[in-house]
Amino acid sequence: MNPWFAKTGILLGSTAIVVIRVMYRLRCRNVVVVKNRMGRLEVALMAFASIGFVVPLLWVASSVFEIADYSLHPVPFISGILCLVLGLLLFVWSHMALGTNWSVTLKVQEGHELVTRGIYCCVRHPMYLALMLYSVGQALVVPNWVAGPSCGIAMTILFALRMGVEERMMLEHFGKDYEEYVTRTKRLVPGIW
Ligand code: SAH
Repeated sequence: MNPWFAKTGILLGSTAIVVIRVMYRLRCRNVVVVKNRMGRLEVALMAFASIGFVVPLLWVASSVFEIADYSLHPVPFISGILCLVLGLLLFVWSHMALGTNWSVTLKVQEGHELVTRGIYCCVRHPMYLALMLYSVGQALVVPNWVAGPSCGIAMTILFALRMGVEERMMLEHFGKDYEEYVTRTKRLVPGIW
C-alpha cells in the first residue's frame, strides 16, 4: 500500500485531537484553579508525551525517520484506522462528560464536580483509554519502527506514572464520594482493571 494512506490517516487523526483539545481549552479558560499538581515530574511527562505526539507528524512531513520505514499492509492499516476512529470517539465522549472539569495537567478547580455519569460510570480514566486506543491505531497505521510506537510509549509512561497521583488528588478533594466511586469502577478496562 502507498504510505500516503497512512500519512493522510495520521494527519486527519492528529488534527482532530488538536481541534478537540483547543475547543475544550477555550471552554475551560475562565475556571479558577484551587489545587495544582504541576510538579517537575508532570512537566517532564507532558514534554515527553508531546514528543510522542509530534514524532509521527515529523515522519509525515520529512524523511528524517526513513531508515526505520517498512511496507504498509492492508490488515494492520484497516485495524489501525478502526482503533484511531474508536479512540477519537471515546476521546470526544469523555471530554463531553467531563466538561469544564477537564484540564490538561492535574488540577482541581473552583466548583469542581465529581463526574460519575456517562462513560465515567464504566471506567475512571476513559480519556486515557481513548488516547491508548488512538496510540495502538497509530502504531498499526504508521509503517515505521520509530514513529509508529512513539505515541504509545509516551502515553503508557505518562498514564502509568500519573493515574495514582491523580486518584490520590481526587480522593483528597472528594473524600468518601471518590472512595465509593473507586469501589464500583475499574481504572481503564470495564470489569477487568
Ligand atoms: N483521568 C481522566 C481525566 C483526565 S483529564 C480520564 O482519563 O478520563 C485530568 C483532570 O480531570 C484531572 O486534573 C482531574 O481534576 C479531572 N478528573 C479526573 N477524573 C474526574 C472525575 N471523575 N470527575 C471530575 N473530574 C475528574
